[in-house]
Amino acid sequence: MLTNMSAFTEIIGLVTRVGPKVTLHQIGDRVGVGASSWACLECRQCKKGNEQYCARQLDTYGAKWPDTGYVTKGGYSSHIRIHEHYCFPVPEELPTTVAAPMMCAGLVSMALLLLRIPVLRVFGCSRMQHLRLRSR
Ligand SMILES: [Zn+2]
Repeated sequence: MLTNMSAFTEIIGLVTRVGPKVTLHQIGDRVGVGASSWACLECRQCKKGNEQYCARQLDTYGAKWPDTGYVTKGGYSSHIRIHEHYCFPVPEELPTTVAAPMMCAGLVSMALLLLRIPVLRVFGCSRMQHLRLRSR
């Protein structure tokens, strides 16, 4: 569970609670969260690294946790429940205003670059275009 967040799916916060099986993070860690909150990590899509196509995947905003019925509200909520796999360590030296955009547009841009498409064109997402321009 996180607190001290920014908006929508660009969340930077502190871990305030961990479940008994969590091994990647501990209370007090500063982490970032993007558009995904949870996926099964067991299906064919998850095992291929395409968790965004998991039939049971939960978005950080507007998804309903099946066990509690809680509907995710992204960075607009005071706290949020996230699987440890979708929390990324954020160094203290990195300002939230710089780190937060990397959790949405930055992750999407990086995923596209990892696909090794020779010519990459991004239309309609100004933040993604901004990040790509700044990376050159
Ligand atoms: Zn899955």
